[in-house]
Amino acid sequence: MSKIVRCPKCGSEVPEDNLRCFFCGSMLDISVGPLSFIANKKGGLVISIIAIITILFLLKWFF
Ligand SMILES: [Zn+2]
Repeated sequence: MSKIVRCPKCGSEVPEDNLRCFFCGSMLDISVGPLSFIANKKGGLVISIIAIITILFLLKWFF
């Protein structure tokens, strides 16, 4: 079910599931990668940061 995206660096077609282009090894644009839901969703980045902080806080609390 993965779509094909173009590598922004070399222009090769790679599945959007890949974080890196397997032709040139460059990182694919986050807006077309598997983390695109963070970039596309409004406020998603803030929610992600809050979630990470919460997880770190819980880890510190329990251990
Ligand atoms: Zn490439």
